[in-house]
Formats: sequence, structure tokens, C-alpha cells
Amino acid sequence: MNRKSRQWKRLAETVRKQSKAAGEPCWICRQPIEWDAPPRSPKSFSADHLEPIAQGGKVIPALSGVAPAHYGCNSRRGDGTRIRNTGRAWGW
Ligand SMILES: [Zn+2]
Repeated sequence: MNRKSRQWKRLAETVRKQSKAAGEPCWICRQPIEWDAPPRSPKSFSADHLEPIAQGGKVIPALSGVAPAHYGCNSRRGDGTRIRNTGRAWGW
């Protein structure tokens, strides 16, 4: 699990750099992302799975399977479908 989250972090960082360079908005609400907002604030960047893990998406998808989203939008959307409720996706 640690190894996976390290991979995910690296992937998320790549998405962040590319999205920032391209000026991409949040893919959920289409509003600009505040790149300098403090981490975990509602308008800050987070990397979102286009195909939720709970619905069969890969934990570590290809770069194209990840999109930039606001931290706030991402966690709202994730309600009820996140890892906490789908432990089996992690192989335990
Ligand atoms: Zn948003």
C-alpha cells in the first residue's frame, strides 16, 4: 500500500505540473484551480481518478486516466465511493 501511494503521489505531481503549465481547470466544475492555494483547501489542486477505483478503475492508472480537480470537488464527488468503503480494491 505504501508503494502504491508513493507511485500515486508521483503521478499526481506529474499531473499537477502538466495541468498548471497548460492552465487546465478543474474537470468537475470547470473553474480555475488555485495553484498556490494551501494544500487541502477547497480550491487547491488534487489529482482525481477519471474512473473511480470503486468502479473498477486502477489504483495507479495511466496519466490519461487522471485529471486535475479542486480538492473540494474531488472529495465531494468521492463521498461514498472512496477507498474507505471499498477496502477490497486494495487487495485485503
Ligand atoms: Zn472544481
